[in-house]
Amino acid sequence: MNNLNIVKSASCFLCGSINNKRIRQVQCGEKISYYFKCENCGLIFIYPKFSSEDVKKLYSVSLSDKPHMKRVFISDVINSVPRVSLIKYLGFNFQNKNCLDVGCATGGLLYLIQNKGAECYGIEPFKPFSTFTSKKIKGKSRIYNGFFEDFESNVKFDLITMFGVFQYFEEPELVLEKIKQMLNKNKKNCLIIGGVPNPINFENKKTPSKTYRSFLYNKSSLLKLLGKNGFEIKAIYYSKSDVNPDELLNKFNILSVLLKNTYSYFFNLNNIWNEEFKIVEDQNKEDIEYITIICTVK
Ligand SMILES: [Zn+2]
Repeated sequence: MNNLNIVKSASCFLCGSINNKRIRQVQCGEKISYYFKCENCGLIFIYPKFSSEDVKKLYSVSLSDKPHMKRVFISDVINSVPRVSLIKYLGFNFQNKNCLDVGCATGGLLYLIQNKGAECYGIEPFKPFSTFTSKKIKGKSRIYNGFFEDFESNVKFDLITMFGVFQYFEEPELVLEKIKQMLNKNKKNCLIIGGVPNPINFENKKTPSKTYRSFLYNKSSLLKLLGKNGFEIKAIYYSKSDVNPDELLNKFNILSVLLKNTYSYFFNLNNIWNEEFKIVEDQNKEDIEYITIICTVK
């Protein structure tokens, strides 16, 4: 393949710029493509794109290991504690609210918010996880085994969360359009996109090269994408890595591990539905691993 042609024809779907820098190679099955960084908006994207069939195959391969469910569930709950605290801190009252967690894994987040009175729904493509979660969550057929793109429901949601998921969507604009249809049309609807990896680590090649992501977003490209698709940003929150279950199991003082890992850098959040919100400045610190963004439909 002629690399020069690839560079010339790669254009950013978000801003249309053709001023893009090739960063590294990416493999999907047998096929090879490249990650490009848009010099205008900062979006990192794959060009040429893989087919959605190839990408789905990749996920089924990476999910074929059967982990120990209870262990996964415990780390899932532990990692969800700060997420639930964040949502509560934003002034969200879970009581009788319809909440959907996209990529719910073993249902740690849903389990916690169910105990706070939420009506819980989840989507999880990995069958053993969705089966396990179904047993933990009240109500029949609340956990959908499959991909968000194929999910159908008449329920209107007050809160949709997706942690560690958004970077894997092949068609983020279609996903956002679907979310808009699914959210309750009141001022308190809320979408939380969390666990979006800091692209700086990716660019510095700290992320293992085999990690596949459809896109990598920084603050600027995320804001642009959400704004373009009818969402209003309420807050941005930066955090360190999730708790490593091995670290957790090897330490006596679980609390200290929790505190260390969930320390947030710019937690200047107030009640988002009552007050004017400040968007915090971007931080190019490598020890910030994830971006979480809180928004509502305009
Ligand atoms: Zn761009």
